[in-house]
Amino acid sequence: MNRRHFLGFAAASSLMAGCRWPSWSVIPPWLPVKVLDGGMKQGHHFARDAGNALPTPSSERCVDTIILGGGVAGLTAGWRLAQAGFKDFLLLQGFEQYGNASSGKWQDVSYPRGAHYLPFPTPESTHVQEMLRAFGILQGQNLGDVNSYDERCVVHAPDERLWLGGKQYWHDTVMPPAKKGSEDSIQQQRFLALVNSLKGKCGSDGKILFAIPIALSSQDAEWRKLDTMTFDQWLNREGYISEGLRWFLDYSCRDDYGFGSDKVSAWAGIHYFASRVHDSEKDHQTSLLTWGAGLNPLAEQLSQASLAQQLPQAAIRLVETSHGVEVWSTDMQGKVTLIRAKRAICAMPLHVLKHVFPQLKDYGFDVTQDILPHVPWLVSNVWLNGFPREVGDVPLSWENLVYGSKSLGYVTAPQQLIRVARPSHSVFTAYHSFADQAPESARAWMQKASVHELLDVGIQDVIKVYGTDLWPCVAGVEIMMRGHAMSAPVKGYLSQKGLLALRDADQKVTFAHSDLSGYSIFEEASWWGWQAAGRII
Ligand SMILES: Cc1cc2nc3c(=O)[nH]c(=O)nc-3n(C[C@H](O)[C@H](O)[C@H](O)COP(=O)(O)OP(=O)(O)OC[C@H]3O[C@@H](n4cnc5c(N)ncnc54)[C@H](O)[C@@H]3O)c2cc1C
Repeated sequence: MNRRHFLGFAAASSLMAGCRWPSWSVIPPWLPVKVLDGGMKQGHHFARDAGNALPTPSSERCVDTIILGGGVAGLTAGWRLAQAGFKDFLLLQGFEQYGNASSGKWQDVSYPRGAHYLPFPTPESTHVQEMLRAFGILQGQNLGDVNSYDERCVVHAPDERLWLGGKQYWHDTVMPPAKKGSEDSIQQQRFLALVNSLKGKCGSDGKILFAIPIALSSQDAEWRKLDTMTFDQWLNREGYISEGLRWFLDYSCRDDYGFGSDKVSAWAGIHYFASRVHDSEKDHQTSLLTWGAGLNPLAEQLSQASLAQQLPQAAIRLVETSHGVEVWSTDMQGKVTLIRAKRAICAMPLHVLKHVFPQLKDYGFDVTQDILPHVPWLVSNVWLNGFPREVGDVPLSWENLVYGSKSLGYVTAPQQLIRVARPSHSVFTAYHSFADQAPESARAWMQKASVHELLDVGIQDVIKVYGTDLWPCVAGVEIMMRGHAMSAPVKGYLSQKGLLALRDADQKVTFAHSDLSGYSIFEEASWWGWQAAGRII
């Protein structure tokens, strides 16, 4: 009982005061828990004040270009400007440095608070290739070969496993087991053969059907028709009804898109597999890059190489004028600066930008219709003194999933540390997207939930695997609530007119955020940052 006092987190204790201990038999009451919200409170504060008169700035400054948003998109824009010799630009980070690529640290272990892996870049992702080469990560010519990359960043083995709770054993791939020759196995093979046949395939316009970045994909109308139905509808139509396969496909959607196969577009469901040209189930070789702190070290490298002046401030108003733009920017204390610039790159999420930039509609973007649903996520980092016992002594993998779960399993942050002996401390990062709830109601729930309710949802898969064996090792848990974590590519997202209009904007204001792709991955975020900077260069 004294451990709560010993670790004493202010944030946790205030939240814990009113909690209802729904799982007191499972989660020990002494468990210290820290809850973070990624700038949610400040964000809501600005949204509420958006219609009010602007505060009087206490200072003013001028700059050639201003970048609004310090996630991967904004950082890439800054990096590309710096590469081209630009010096006179400023980046407003918002209230969460690196956004979804932020990280935390416990003892000597760094861990992700959001994004954690980057697949080997596709041939079309020349922007990512250039970045990885500049940082010494991509060293060889063959993009699909593990030997082309700095081995410290390639996901170390064992890379994945799947917990079959009913049978109490670990399966060594995330595709559920299926007996050779069974209907399940036939459907799995049929699906994999189909998506493999689509990798690199071109449409009637000569462009890759399912490309990353998505903007380079073919416009072939026959294939784009897939966007008029959900992935589930398409799977049913094509006779993919195997329970194991359907769980795996739904999991894959939730993992990349937040929503599951019942809501995402069939085009997006297929794109997930067909766009990853280096994935190979056959030789079971990884095609992923990762770092202990997830994608944070990449964001950090972009940030350092951009040499941009970065301010921990958020834009509260952007106004386009006859000379350029004016930005009202505030720090955490509410001190406001007026910044004048010739051009602005908007690299903040669209649900924030709609409050900040009233002229957004002049760019063909209808804020009442054109914003895709933003799915909320929980990222829970379990701090461990040592390692819990593994059933059957099966070694811990980098990614650990639970078959049948509606959550997204957990990754192990120190997996990338090359050491002779196991480290004394570890962190498991558990992911959960609110795929089955309307985003608004999940966000409302998050704000009211007690610490134990958050834990029940956030670390459910870790508990399913280890049960009460977990607790002797646990020193605490950090829960990051991401209320508007990412855009979901729901049915019809490819023809969202407002998004298409923003992609092409090339005036005083340009746009760069993964939202423009309709879904959120590193390559898409950095693509739009790259494009926006390119327009200025
Ligand atoms: C839980 C989770 C896991 C993920 N895992 C992966 C993964 O493994 N691999 C992968 O490729 N992708 C992953 N992603 C997707 C991830 O979102 C992208 O990789 C990428 O980090 C998105 O970058 P962004 O710049 O588009 O947006 P964001 O990360 O949303 O950055 C937006 C930035 O704008 C700033 N901002 C907000 N309001 C203002 C304002 N008013 N003024 C100025 N700035 C403002 C914010 O502080 C933030 O810095 C994950 C996402 C989540 C939520």
